[in-house]
Amino acid sequence: MQTIRGFRDILPETIGLWQKVEKEAAHLFEAFGFKEIRIPVLEKTELFARSIGEATDIVEKEMYTFSDRNEDKLTLRPEATASIVRSYVQHKMYASDPVRKFFMIGPMFRRERPQKGRYRQFYQIDAEVFGIESAYIDSQMIFILNELFKRLGLAELSAHINSLGCPECRPKFQASLLQFLESKKERLCENCLRRMDKNPLRILDCKVLECKEALTDAPATLDHLCPACMNHFETVKRTLSEQGVDFIVDRSLVRGLDYYTRTAWEIQTTTLGAQSAVAGGGRYDGLVAELGGPPTPGIGFAIGFDRLVEVMEQITPPLEKSLDLFIVSLGDTAVEKAYLWSCDLNRNGVSTELDFRGKSMKALMKRADKLKAKYVLIAGENELAQNRVLLRNMTTTEQVSLTIEHLVPELIGIIKK
Ligand code: ATP
Ligand code: MG
Repeated sequence: MQTIRGFRDILPETIGLWQKVEKEAAHLFEAFGFKEIRIPVLEKTELFARSIGEATDIVEKEMYTFSDRNEDKLTLRPEATASIVRSYVQHKMYASDPVRKFFMIGPMFRRERPQKGRYRQFYQIDAEVFGIESAYIDSQMIFILNELFKRLGLAELSAHINSLGCPECRPKFQASLLQFLESKKERLCENCLRRMDKNPLRILDCKVLECKEALTDAPATLDHLCPACMNHFETVKRTLSEQGVDFIVDRSLVRGLDYYTRTAWEIQTTTLGAQSAVAGGGRYDGLVAELGGPPTPGIGFAIGFDRLVEVMEQITPPLEKSLDLFIVSLGDTAVEKAYLWSCDLNRNGVSTELDFRGKSMKALMKRADKLKAKYVLIAGENELAQNRVLLRNMTTTEQVSLTIEHLVPELIGIIKK
């Protein structure tokens, strides 16, 4: 049996980096006042269709959707924001305190063409803030991303930012965009033509080369911002500069989801080839109301965890796992004693291994080497007959003889020193 296409195992050999990122992220989020939230992987299809948008790539072709036995239409979550907004509204969190900050880490599902950095089950690290309209929060979200990547040793990343405006400035922009698109009609792909009535903004995110070329001079949201949006974006740029966060204003960045308003951004890397975005985010001031809550501003980002790990693999040497102690036990009595000591040591935080297969001294020493044991305890029949064992420090090769009477506490003292 094999995993299905686009799905993969993350094996113990590579889990070290995943755990390192999880720890750093949780630590950082907590310092900035974020609380962890866990949400289901399965939701009603309608949730994603309504929030991400009917005429988006995700909803049109990437979702894993199926009918439950009672005919309910269900979807494996392709992203986290919609579910977290659903949770915020469902539990009326706004009633006691509209200002909430959440983070979550978990798998997402999109039926895309699998390739390096693109899987059908992939992982995201996600953060969302509700109830704050201030541009300082937009800056802070990008600042947090920047800080996390810095702590993980990633420097070659750049933040591409744009402002998508608000319902106030959208109509004027859309009119000017439609006029432009009309003039390029014969160069656009079928998908774009179909979206012209439904969702013209999506055309700006088309990945087809021909369309991209036709759209180089397309009008930008930045040229149509209302004074309030302009002000908001200026504050974001000014504070990012003050904080020393590098960014590039990217007038053509629109992102693939419909709910974004005002600030939107992507963090790109040059080290991943075509799959260059390691994180993306934006403001979504209309989404909480759209999903049945009171008008509440929102903003969030998602980091592509798989891609992040792939970038880290290129710069971090593999994490070396080592063992505190290996017990070379020769003969049945020795094995049983070694087994009992090992459990006692393990529960006291001393990582200890032994071998139950009755191997020779030479084979066991080899195994100790392979496991990179810092100490080896030699419990041979002769030593044990005198109630003694030998402890060898593998770095210094120094050897001491110990009595077995208070062996475990003594070993803990030496090894944990
Ligand atoms: P892309 O343009 O690469 O398809 P996206 O805009 O669809 O990305 P988002 O919805 O913004 O991606 O998701 C946030 C992040 O999740 C992306 O920046 C990327 O790092 C990661 N991501 C998205 N889709 C996948 C996937 N299929 N496999 C692995 N990571 C992914
Ligand atoms: Mg995508």
